[in-house]
Amino acid sequence: MKLTVIGCLGGYPYKGQGTTSFLLQSEGFNLLLDAGSGSLIQLENEISPLALDAVILSHYHPDHIADVGVLQHYWQLFPKTEERPVLPIYGHGEDQENFARLSLPNVSEGHDYLGVEQLNLGPFSVTFMKTIHPVVCYAMRFVENSTGKIFVFTGDSGYLETFVDFARDADLFLADTYLFAGNEKHIAHFTSKEAGEISREAGVKKLVLTHLPQQGDLEQLRLEASQAAKDELPVELAAIGKTFEI
Ligand code: ZN
Repeated sequence: MKLTVIGCLGGYPYKGQGTTSFLLQSEGFNLLLDAGSGSLIQLENEISPLALDAVILSHYHPDHIADVGVLQHYWQLFPKTEERPVLPIYGHGEDQENFARLSLPNVSEGHDYLGVEQLNLGPFSVTFMKTIHPVVCYAMRFVENSTGKIFVFTGDSGYLETFVDFARDADLFLADTYLFAGNEKHIAHFTSKEAGEISREAGVKKLVLTHLPQQGDLEQLRLEASQAAKDELPVELAAIGKTFEI
């Protein structure tokens, strides 16, 4: 599978860069993972938004869903040369008000993954874990069925010990790392140190830091995570347009 960074800032867009969104592709299946601010414009540099097979959302904070509405408009208004399928958008139903917005007649349909033990989504099997965050958020573990390769995305989360099992043996661990070391046990986000420690304990093969802060030295953030992982695995920063073969 291939992961492409569409947006990787946390909280708000800054200096031309948008917030959380990733394109996950396998066997011709195109999945948009979160749809933060600016994601639709950047997505167009990779594929036509009309080529998406599905969208999946970790939670309903604006920096993860800001472009869902305009994506629906794109599907609704772009001139049709043939009948367009309804776009499936997967989200959790614990917040019914936001979940209801995922459905637009003849355009998109919300699918609730709440309580689903394993979601079969195109070439992937997906499992979920509730995170520590001010609103309900789910981390996701994707297994590519044809290869057994594992990709784990934290969504947004403060430190949670169960991530060690959830991220176990991941080929790529994409971790919300909004905070520098020294701010551990935050109510909403990992620190670099926590991302690194979890990765090492979980036997992760590669750590990618995302939900990046607008302020501060990102290379320092990366070094802190790498040191916490005792330099046992590669640690990279997400950056718009960057791709990872998993
Ligand atoms: Zn959030």
